[in-house]
Amino acid sequence: MRPAKKMSRKQTFHIKKNDLVEVITGEERERRGRVLEVIAAKTMAIVEGVNLVKKHQRARSQAKPSGIVTVPAPLHISNLMLICPRCSKKTKVRMEKIENKRVRICRKCGESLE
Ligand SMILES: [Zn+2]
Repeated sequence: MRPAKKMSRKQTFHIKKNDLVEVITGEERERRGRVLEVIAAKTMAIVEGVNLVKKHQRARSQAKPSGIVTVPAPLHISNLMLICPRCSKKTKVRMEKIENKRVRICRKCGESLE
């Protein structure tokens, strides 16, 4: 019997860290920002300067006093749309396999986004 193939499939999204995205729904609609972090487990992403929430923070050191800090809260990835760095339009991507790597291709201009 052959050993069962390990299913360690890493989930991939159309959005990655450092991508420029636009919010397409909700109060923050049409705001753009750079992806600071993708939280794969929750299918969410944190976008710089978008969906800001105030948090009360306790003093941890002299350099970081207590107070209210503004931090971006995660947004669901489905509410974000990628902005193509080549044609700077909101776009969808298609995946192509080039030299065994998954490459995202802009559907509008056909350029690779990697
Ligand atoms: Zn494009």
